[in-house]
Amino acid sequence: MEKTVRERANEILRIKDHGERERVYRGLLESNEAESFEILLKLLASGDVIHTQMAADILGLKADPRYLPKMREIRNQLPAHKGLRDYRWTVDRNIEILENIEQGAKCRCDLYEVQSGFGERFNPRVEQVEGFISIMREIVHREEYFTEYFCKCNTCGRRWRVTDEIGYHYSLYRWEEITDKRRYDTYF
Ligand SMILES: [Zn+2]
Repeated sequence: MEKTVRERANEILRIKDHGERERVYRGLLESNEAESFEILLKLLASGDVIHTQMAADILGLKADPRYLPKMREIRNQLPAHKGLRDYRWTVDRNIEILENIEQGAKCRCDLYEVQSGFGERFNPRVEQVEGFISIMREIVHREEYFTEYFCKCNTCGRRWRVTDEIGYHYSLYRWEEITDKRRYDTYF
């Protein structure tokens, strides 16, 4: 018998193994079935710190803004949890990602631009893994405890200098656009 959306979601919520969880979420990302969105929305609404964030990220990657109203509704009902970083920020980030797509953006550069002060929204390594940017050069400043990432958007070619701040319990990043092409040109 076919499992219902609720049953599938509950099954996923019980997965303890990290690798298995990753595999299941990637499967939902690759699926074109409408049901994959329904399952993800159920997981998003679960309020579980891990699953809500994973579901939000996958919904962002699925890049379908049709589900924005439902996501906003769920976001507003998510409970606050104690913690150094509010897990609901991941939902906010993916709502912004989908709004950007809805507005016709072909890449995430306009969102990176907003993060011109230190913020937790965009980790360049994750952006590279998901195929949005390429890190052309990485410079570790050991004495000063920070890393510089020289990145290029895979879609529009805009260049970014990203610096991290690891003095917090979670990393923060600052994205600055390199508008003078002669600057750092040997890195690109
Ligand atoms: Zn771009």
